[in-house]
Amino acid sequence: MYPIQTIRNQFPILAQRVHNNPLVYFDNAATTQKPQCVIDAIVDSYTRTNANIHRGIHTLSQRSTDLYEQARARVQTFINAPHSREIIFTKGVTESLNLLAWSFGEKFIYEGDEIIVSAMEHHSNLVPWQMLCERKRATLRFIPFFKNGELDMETCKTLFNERTKLLSIAHVSNSLGTVNPLKEIIDMAHAHNVPVCVDGAQSIQHTAIDVQSLDCDFFAFSGHKIYAPTGIGVLWGKEQWLNELPPYQGGGGMIKTVSLAHTEYNELPFRFEAGTTNYVGAHALGVALEYVQSIGLAKIEQHENELLNCATQRLQEIDAVHIIGNARHKAGAISFIVDGAHPADVGMILDKKGIAIRTGTHCTEPVMQFYNISTTARISFGMYNTLDEVNFFADTLQKVVKMF
Ligand code: PMP
Repeated sequence: MYPIQTIRNQFPILAQRVHNNPLVYFDNAATTQKPQCVIDAIVDSYTRTNANIHRGIHTLSQRSTDLYEQARARVQTFINAPHSREIIFTKGVTESLNLLAWSFGEKFIYEGDEIIVSAMEHHSNLVPWQMLCERKRATLRFIPFFKNGELDMETCKTLFNERTKLLSIAHVSNSLGTVNPLKEIIDMAHAHNVPVCVDGAQSIQHTAIDVQSLDCDFFAFSGHKIYAPTGIGVLWGKEQWLNELPPYQGGGGMIKTVSLAHTEYNELPFRFEAGTTNYVGAHALGVALEYVQSIGLAKIEQHENELLNCATQRLQEIDAVHIIGNARHKAGAISFIVDGAHPADVGMILDKKGIAIRTGTHCTEPVMQFYNISTTARISFGMYNTLDEVNFFADTLQKVVKMF
């Protein structure tokens, strides 16, 4: 049995009412709510251990450093990375991908080189590569996708050539919910000696990640999508790649020695963690990952799939509702539009019933352009959502549709 009530009790925010209705939080792809243990970890850090890390010999600084490095080790086990020094703490996926685009670009990208992304990427896995291509006069190439939201893998095969230097791809699309065939893409890229970066923003919370069996070269995720605070995230990279990359930012912590004339950089992972990091956030991320592990991602995945299947079926039963993205393998999120109603109006009416959904482009404007729509409404699930909530949402949406 999935311990749904025990889980819900851990998330104090869920107990509240919104517009006098129980809160139904279906905006988990944007950010997740935090369990009490994560909230406690933050309060406890500032109450008992707070001190800057790595640069102090006093007790609090050592405690704080220990918590930070324990969190790194927790991330390592969570994604099965070979070494904890391959775990770089960042602000989140956006910073992880900007770091990679800058550092990888600086070292390996020359005029005429090519980088591959898909046409369904979140802006944060698109714009940094566009910026890099502009800077280096390189070319960005796109894996197209079909109307059903699945990547066109036949065309993908044709995109590689001797100028291809990197492929960066979302594991799960945040606007379509598509789970991309990661292993197939990685094997294909490696057959052409092309390294692969995975945007794990929408997969880390839904399915177990093993970077060694995936054999990707880089993997990025954000803490706030997996029940940890905002402002903390991870870039994992294979050590042999990270050792080749120049630092992204200069400052304290990333150096070994500095003179006015010259700086020697620190070793991994510190070389990429300039300045005072979000060490409290990192500790809380470690606690969040421990919490997720205590429930088990396999169980969470099964539960969320039930929610997804039920919601898909209920939405398909409403004639005026059209799901955008009908890939065979989906996770976490469903986008939809309603005939004759603007998604923002649908969202506002649902909010009056306590149901929090997201409406907009979901930072995937090219996806909206592909379907020739301006925005969608999107529901997305977390480990604490229930079938009752899905049914309440669908019943309410049915009434909303009649209003239009
Ligand atoms: N990629 C995907 C697929 C996402 O869903 C998101 C967050 N919406 C991001 C990247 C960016 O994550 P963050 O804003 O936490 O940096």
